[in-house]
Amino acid sequence: MERSLILFKPDCVQRRLVGRILSRFEDKGLNVVAMKLMHITPDLAKQHYAEHVQKGWYPTLEQFITGGPVVAAVLEGLEVIRVVREMLGATSGLKAAPGTIRGDYSSSRQMNLVHASDGPEAAAREIALYFKKEEIVDNTPTITPWLRAGDEA
Ligand code: ADP
Ligand code: MG
Repeated sequence: MERSLILFKPDCVQRRLVGRILSRFEDKGLNVVAMKLMHITPDLAKQHYAEHVQKGWYPTLEQFITGGPVVAAVLEGLEVIRVVREMLGATSGLKAAPGTIRGDYSSSRQMNLVHASDGPEAAAREIALYFKKEEIVDNTPTITPWLRAGDEA
């Protein structure tokens, strides 16, 4: 079973969209195994966005992502990393297809509401940045047999 690190970014929390977007993940059948409200420090932002720290626009990204509380979560599911990235849509809300989360709720390339890991290595690295092992809960809902066939996992 695969896991992905999700952040409901400060714009998502301020706009009161966490519940609606979390519902889309729940409706899809993905499983929340960790979740907390927290502030991202500049130091954590630099670790999280290490690949972007050198970019000209990084300071505005850091200001944004540290500018208010986020909800960090770990989602679990089959192929969850790819599935969630597809649910988010393209990075910019101006380019993301209608029907995707960013396409439906964002009109910005920066304030795009939700972060999700983009591959297995990123997911492992990011989950460890935000959660201690004991904060991740073993959680197999009893409805699981009605979400997929037994031979799919
Ligand atoms: P994604 O979140 O889709 O993986 P990137 O890894 O390219 O996107 O960028 C990380 C985050 O940085 C984006 O989600 C967005 O919030 C912000 N961002 C991306 N491009 C820009 C830009 N040109 N100017 C400002 N912020 C940006
Ligand atoms: Mg990225």
